[in-house]
Amino acid sequence: MYDGIVQDLIDEFGRLPGIGPKSAQRIVFHILQTPNFDVSRLSHLLADVRDKVRFCEICGNVSEQERCAICRDPRRNATLICVVEDAKDVAAIERTREFRGLYHVLGGAISPIAGIGPDDLRIASLMQRLADGTVQEVILATNPNLEGEATATYLSRLLHTLQITVTRLASGLPVGGDLEYADEVTLGRAFEGRRSM
Ligand SMILES: [Zn+2]
Repeated sequence: MYDGIVQDLIDEFGRLPGIGPKSAQRIVFHILQTPNFDVSRLSHLLADVRDKVRFCEICGNVSEQERCAICRDPRRNATLICVVEDAKDVAAIERTREFRGLYHVLGGAISPIAGIGPDDLRIASLMQRLADGTVQEVILATNPNLEGEATATYLSRLLHTLQITVTRLASGLPVGGDLEYADEVTLGRAFEGRRSM
């Protein structure tokens, strides 16, 4: 335990996801002991990420404009939409360089325990995107865990009525895991081996 500001900052970092008290302490001491650590750049970026970054009005990915860089890119294949739970999953899939289509971020997964139902996800906006017949395949890339599987099953039933191929990423992804933590090779292979639902 420290006095005043040092402890306040440790507590503040410690509240962030994935940072325990030890890591928080390490960060604060790194700042204290590094004379040229650019505190103002860090604080500006923190303010900027809150003020200037929003979610793409089409796909829900993070973006500094109304439409994200992927949705704005005319070279992307508009007949393919990859449905993911989280904007972090978009980044994970982009790193594989296997996928050249567009994305749709649901903003979570169906979880009765957490009280998250289909209406809490960006499913209506997905259906809107599919309405004009441009999209020929929807790839369900929700996480390979209970909630992700439930969400994929729900969506595949919903999409069954449309003339669209619905596929799910191949197995090989660690079951129970998060897509964002899968390595690029595994995730890339899962894309190549996606199966019809
Ligand atoms: Zn977008």
